[in-house]
Amino acid sequence: MREDTIYAPASAIGGAIAVLRISGPKAGETARILSADITKTPRELRFVRVLDGTETVDDSMAVFFPAPHSYTGENMVEIDCHGGGQTVQHILALLSRLGFRPAEGGEFTRRAFLNGKMDLSQAEAVMDVITAGAQQSLKAAMQQLHGSVSREVASIESLLLDALSGIDAAVDYPEEAEADAYAALPEQLLAAHSRMERLLADGRRGRVLRDGMQVVILGRPNVGKSSLLNALLGQERAIVTSAAGTTRDVLDERTSIRGVPVRLLDTAGIRDAADEVERIGVTRAWKALETADIVLVLVDSSMPLAPEDRALIDETAGMTRIVVKNKSDLPCCCKLPDQIEAAAVAVSAKMGTGLEALSERILALAGPSRADAAGITNERHLHALERARLAVDSAMMAGELDCTATDIRSALHFLGEITGTDVDDAVIDRIFSRFCVGK
Ligand code: GDP
Repeated sequence: MREDTIYAPASAIGGAIAVLRISGPKAGETARILSADITKTPRELRFVRVLDGTETVDDSMAVFFPAPHSYTGENMVEIDCHGGGQTVQHILALLSRLGFRPAEGGEFTRRAFLNGKMDLSQAEAVMDVITAGAQQSLKAAMQQLHGSVSREVASIESLLLDALSGIDAAVDYPEEAEADAYAALPEQLLAAHSRMERLLADGRRGRVLRDGMQVVILGRPNVGKSSLLNALLGQERAIVTSAAGTTRDVLDERTSIRGVPVRLLDTAGIRDAADEVERIGVTRAWKALETADIVLVLVDSSMPLAPEDRALIDETAGMTRIVVKNKSDLPCCCKLPDQIEAAAVAVSAKMGTGLEALSERILALAGPSRADAAGITNERHLHALERARLAVDSAMMAGELDCTATDIRSALHFLGEITGTDVDDAVIDRIFSRFCVGK
């Protein structure tokens, strides 16, 4: 497969300029359809004419990157041509006539991975960079692209490999090894274990950088859930009316707070719903709670606290939660229990006041800490890390040295899944199937 030379447009067609990429052993032969031999001037962007026989197809710019100093690690050519569909299609047809074939989605990055230009966690970060919807998400993805996850994994691997070589020495030379060879074993395992624990703890919060922080808004009908959602989104999306129970289902909206992506879920008022549609909404609202990073319990501060408000406050007591007193523009006649009152945030969704303080509090309770930006945010990586930690758990408890060694090897296998040194083709296929053509 990899002897093939592949090509693809790497930019959307129809803009002023289109970027075409060619990669593979024969990429240099692209010079045959250009007015200048770009292979003679590697890494230099040159003006060229693209030629179809004697006909000029386009005035373009082109550059040749000889292997291994290119994105894919293979010979590569990039052509910047005019972005119109006719021009692009004509040049693609010329590339096909040279014997090259169209690239599949993610094939350039896949080749970069297979040629050792980046590990799997970095390849996945490429896609995260492209799809990042908020500033902090982009920052985390860039750090991972630059190897932050790879470095963390490598340092844990090195602790485990040291532990393993101590065991191997003890097994191979039992007489000499009694004391020294594996004296450090408990310490090495403990060090690896705490490192993984920390990464996992950071990762659970860091995950929100990639997937968004899930904020669920709860409250009985008419307290202003939809209004708050709209105010936080800064746009009209949910339908606001003064008839109770109008938000019939869970509304899922995406926004960001200080660069952290947020999924806002406005729920149907949780209560005994009268009709079927509403009942479905209520069930979904409870489901949303299970995966929420933070819950906002909204009460109407212009009214005395209702039994339903109190029930919601009690039921969410164990969750990461903020009690929000809405309608602070009206005279207040709601009395919360002292402890709840002290931690509550007053807002007026209608006037847009108090929203800054609310955002601040949401971030403080559920946002990523600064260190998370360098941590692990990818669910697949977290899952593999969790399994590696379990294997180290088991190594720490194993009595026999060979059981310990087996557990350490299994931990190393799971760590290898993160960087791709030890991973099935099916997993690789699944990862690259998310990529677009040209990347
Ligand atoms: P929901 O049923 O909880 O989603 O409540 P809505 O967002 O539909 O709001 C119910 C009613 O309260 C509407 O008439 C809103 O205009 C009004 N409302 C919402 N927030 C405020 C607020 O901060 N102040 C005032 N005065 N009215 C509000």
